Amino acid sequence: MAPRWRTWSLDGKLLCFDRETGINQLLSGEETAHLEQRAPRFIHVALTNDCNKDCSFCCLPAHAPNAWTFDELLGLARWASDWGVLELTFGGGEPLVFPRFDQLLRRIWNETPLCPSFTTNGKALSAQFLRAIDGCYGQLQLSIYDDERPLEKIDLLAAESARFGLNVLVTPERLRALELDVYRWFERGARDVLLLCYKGADEALHLSPDDDKRLVASVQRLRARFGHALTIKVDVCWRDRLAGLPQLLDGPDCEASDSFVSVSADKHVQPCSFHEQRVAFSAFDEIETIYRRFRELRPRASARGCGRPCSYPSPC
Ligand code: SF4
Ligand code: SF4
Repeated sequence: MAPRWRTWSLDGKLLCFDRETGINQLLSGEETAHLEQRAPRFIHVALTNDCNKDCSFCCLPAHAPNAWTFDELLGLARWASDWGVLELTFGGGEPLVFPRFDQLLRRIWNETPLCPSFTTNGKALSAQFLRAIDGCYGQLQLSIYDDERPLEKIDLLAAESARFGLNVLVTPERLRALELDVYRWFERGARDVLLLCYKGADEALHLSPDDDKRLVASVQRLRARFGHALTIKVDVCWRDRLAGLPQLLDGPDCEASDSFVSVSADKHVQPCSFHEQRVAFSAFDEIETIYRRFRELRPRASARGCGRPCSYPSPC
């Protein structure tokens, strides 16, 4: 099938994106020199603060309210596609506990040109759900939790021909077995692995400088072993710390409030979902105004693990 391109203007460049294949093509030259970025490429939407797990390291605020309804999310999708956004990425909490989430994905896919993707802890993942959303999402990111039988979840995703990647929180303990784990995940059909940086308060879960070096060496060995057969990327928050490794995004920094912006379950805009700066909105148009302000400032988060340079405004 020929790609059905949708375009996103950057400053002086044009990105063409086909949601069916996930292919991106970046064009730049005389014809694109006049272009200006006016919208983020994607909006990360926390659908809900509810979750069907209870992880000790969870960064979600306790008892935070949920404000989204099904119809409001459809309205957000329509508004975002008019604004020029290409993708919505849903998280939470756990998106699969949001009522009629499968229908939400289908309707966004069928009624807008947006590409909806989502991250799940996998606990509620089933063949029935995957069949219900078949062909109506860009990518499913499965977060690896060892107590949720991840190999069985990968088997399920592979058997259902799901478009999926793995999110892996790299703690010192996970790092010790990371390469062996990646081999196991690859054997079961995983072809896309995103390594994530912990940003919470538990010191024991942060990597030390020596761990950073071990992680770089592990990723380099994995890349040498698997080549193009496996895509392995690292968190945007590690940008400068793990220089030289393939990053999730290609911009000058993490690109929070530039290529992407976050919208919380209680309807606040944040530069990223870990950020303490949050501004409430009541109408969708206000999201654009808040985004523009954040884009000018490019604020650094105060969370330990934020990799944005200290030259950006923040209490760092
Ligand atoms: S799965 Fe994620 S959202 Fe749910 S409790 Fe664990 S860390 Fe929090
Ligand atoms: S602002 Fe900091 S925490 Fe947020 S995405 Fe950027 S590097 Fe990560």
